[in-house]
Amino acid sequence: MLEKKRSTEELIILALSSASTVCLLPFLAWRTIEQDWLVAALDLLAIMVAVGLFIHVYITRNVIYARWVLAILCAVELPITIALKGPAQIGWIYPAIIAMFMLLSPTIALMLSLTMISIIGGILWSQLNSLMYYQSLFSILATALFIYAFTNHMFRQQQILRQLSIKDPLTGVGNRRALEDKLLELMSYKRAHRDNTSTLILIDLDQFKDINDHYGHAIGDQILITFASLVNQKLRNNESLYRLGGEEFVITVANKNRDKASILAEEIRELVDLFLFTNSIHLTISIGIAESQAKETTLDWLGRADAAMYKAKGAGRNLCCVAA
Ligand code: GH3
Ligand code: MG
Ligand code: MG
Repeated sequence: MLEKKRSTEELIILALSSASTVCLLPFLAWRTIEQDWLVAALDLLAIMVAVGLFIHVYITRNVIYARWVLAILCAVELPITIALKGPAQIGWIYPAIIAMFMLLSPTIALMLSLTMISIIGGILWSQLNSLMYYQSLFSILATALFIYAFTNHMFRQQQILRQLSIKDPLTGVGNRRALEDKLLELMSYKRAHRDNTSTLILIDLDQFKDINDHYGHAIGDQILITFASLVNQKLRNNESLYRLGGEEFVITVANKNRDKASILAEEIRELVDLFLFTNSIHLTISIGIAESQAKETTLDWLGRADAAMYKAKGAGRNLCCVAA
């Protein structure tokens, strides 16, 4: 079986936890030789947490808690080390802030780093002269704010790109990639909860080529847009519409069996049959309905819905057909 590629979040945690271990090991040895037991114990604790997180994420691939533990470890360990060893440790604040922004969302990382900076500011107040104090404090604050501005911009860009990559540009509904993600999600839910059932409704617009040929491609496009919005208005929670490609659409109906999904499919078929599109165009649709089965792939599931849709075409179109 092919191993799924590790996500960026996993790689970040694996890299940061191994980098902190490698950076801290020489200092643990140094403190031990100097018999500075308290700081040595702190270094040892940080190394143990980092190694533990590395193993946890490497095996389970679950990053939810690991991100928080690693970020909080930075935010807690650094003020304690500075309180014990003084301003010589200031240099560690910069990589710690960068690590927080790599682990958490920009706003949360900013809040956590500002909290850490305030605590460190309080600790350093009595240990540095005024000029040194303000120079250190402002350079640390500027670092946090610059990284925030940069990561926030990247974060937004990433969200926009992600939206674009899963949306069909013509109709605005989810595209095939989004559908594949949804099918995988529904399938893995079914594997975890045996008695759960979800259903696919595959819709193909009937004789759509004739509409294009007769009225032109632009009108055809307009019909696809109106069709998607008409169907979308009919859907409720746990029901989503995707464009599979061309004039074919899929509705995923989560947590409903084929009998309940058939009622929805029949309502949509009727709605389209009664609706007049632009230029008073009348259109019908053929529908295939398939309930999920535990031991099939998402492609098999989609294939059964497709076969049922072709059965509806063969039986004269403007029909719903349920897969065996
Ligand atoms: P059937 O009832 O058997 O499905 O007939 P059909 O004409 O709908 O099916 P066919 O597969 O022969 O043709 C599909 C048509 O859908 C052909 C293509 O021009 C049109 N089409 C696909 N994507 C688009 C699109 O994005 N915009 C427009 N306007 N037409 C599209
Ligand atoms: Mg088709
Ligand atoms: Mg068609």
